[in-house]
Amino acid sequence: MQSDYVCTNGQRPSPIEERLVFDNRFTRELPADPHSGNQRRLVIGACFSRVQPRPVAAPRLIAVSREAAALLDLSEGDCESAEFTQVFAGNRLLPGMDPHATCYGGHQFGAWAGQLGDGRAINLGEVVNARGERWVVQLKGAGPTPYSREADGFAVLRSSLREFLCSEAMHHLGVPTTRALSLVLSGEQVLRDMFYDGHPAREPGAIVCRLAPSFTRFGHFEILTAHENTTLLRELLDYTIRTDFPHLGEPSPRVYIAWFEEVCRRTLSMIVHWMRVGFVHGVMNTDNMSILGQTIDYGPYGWLEGYDPDWTPNTTDAVGRRYRFDQQPQVALWNLTQLANAIFPLVGQVEPLQRAIANYAKEYEPAWVAMMAGKLGLTQVDPATDKPLFFELLDVLQLVETDMTLFHRNLALLSSEQREASDDALLEPLLPAYYAPDALTAEHRARTTAWLRRYLERLIGEGSGDEERRARMNRVNPKYVLRNYLAQLAIDRCEQGDYSLLHDLLDVLRHPYDEQPQKEHFAAKRPEWARERAGCSMLSCSS
Ligand code: AMP
Ligand code: MG
Repeated sequence: MQSDYVCTNGQRPSPIEERLVFDNRFTRELPADPHSGNQRRLVIGACFSRVQPRPVAAPRLIAVSREAAALLDLSEGDCESAEFTQVFAGNRLLPGMDPHATCYGGHQFGAWAGQLGDGRAINLGEVVNARGERWVVQLKGAGPTPYSREADGFAVLRSSLREFLCSEAMHHLGVPTTRALSLVLSGEQVLRDMFYDGHPAREPGAIVCRLAPSFTRFGHFEILTAHENTTLLRELLDYTIRTDFPHLGEPSPRVYIAWFEEVCRRTLSMIVHWMRVGFVHGVMNTDNMSILGQTIDYGPYGWLEGYDPDWTPNTTDAVGRRYRFDQQPQVALWNLTQLANAIFPLVGQVEPLQRAIANYAKEYEPAWVAMMAGKLGLTQVDPATDKPLFFELLDVLQLVETDMTLFHRNLALLSSEQREASDDALLEPLLPAYYAPDALTAEHRARTTAWLRRYLERLIGEGSGDEERRARMNRVNPKYVLRNYLAQLAIDRCEQGDYSLLHDLLDVLRHPYDEQPQKEHFAAKRPEWARERAGCSMLSCSS
């Protein structure tokens, strides 16, 4: 068992050492917790605490994203090296790294939760790649930090695999997201009570390496305002503007407002993407909101199978359904309001912040309408007539259980020639989207085909050719998403030591909009066995 760090100082640099050039602005420019060590504590007056990842017994690399590796200029050979596994398990620190956990707070399920912080995420440092891009390299599940509270600092395979695969899947779908470089088994067991019902069990531990230009969350600002530390709040916001938003110019109260407006816009854009692909985050607490408008912290998330706007994958949220699919735009707005409150001491005026929030509400609808028009392959939008068409579609999708992904993908198969077609012929390409085609009553069929005819009329009115429209629709309506049951099957297999499904999924999800004839089975709707199975339809925050 490896119990100590391998320090490479004084020796010839190893290949990975040579590639990774660190420039740790965050820890250089912002104040550190004066105390060291990983013991749990309240941290006041600092943005981070220096910590050490806990070395693990028998790390084993089970997956790497080649696209994420390329962001760090790491070659395939680098990723296959024993050193890579040691580094991204947290066992080997490289010269230039400055491992630390950051301090943030947050509103969880609508209530202020006080200090949270990186309880099991450890930033190793900031890599500047050959193109001059900066990537914060973070290990999740690398052991306790001052912010671990009552938890252990580790992560289990099932949640780590879900985070790893989904981060990369979202990237390939064109949804703003943090990235995932690697998935490493720690070789250790972690105790988890998956449904908090008194049945703890040992599960394989794992570590994901995540990458983002910055992991700053709304909660990083909220905690400083809660501590009435306006000086540090200004320092952090000035730093954030200079580093992540340099185009806004030198920090000033005017620029703070422009910054907030931009965070609102980026958040809005991220949410519209989620609504487009049918993603439900599941735990949109303010500590899980990135100021870059990237999807962050993949926990009890899920993908809509049957289109159900009320669905939340998170069992912890089953009663209030605060984080259900169609409430995500409003929750994001509520979260932005908390961010506005947090920076208010620096802005000193309420109106501009209120205006930015009002703009989010005003801009959301047109953005959603444009997204829906894209999903239907329309090139021009007339909200007055198209909105009723879209709303009727959402009602039609709920008449019987209808797979959102398959429905939209197959809708592209409709042809403007079908104006005179029978109801059966119109419905034919959509049948694979129905979970129980027999449940489609005559009334449902009539309403669905009426909508399809209305849609065809609309397409014909626009006059664009079927082929071009299909190509347009297939660029925004994915064929392959990380269906909840697919992730669970990959977890089951990995727990048995078979990593092939994990690799197949990683591969198919690299091209979610392409037809991949050999991979058709990964586009199939949820099988019946997965309807009520834990991990497929129900997820908890336990991870
Ligand atoms: P979440 O909402 O799951 O992203 O996490 C909320 C807070 O709990 C964050 O501060 C996490 O770092 C912390 N946390 C979650 N799981 C663990 C764990 N196993 N060990 C330490 N901290 C954790
Ligand atoms: Mg979190």
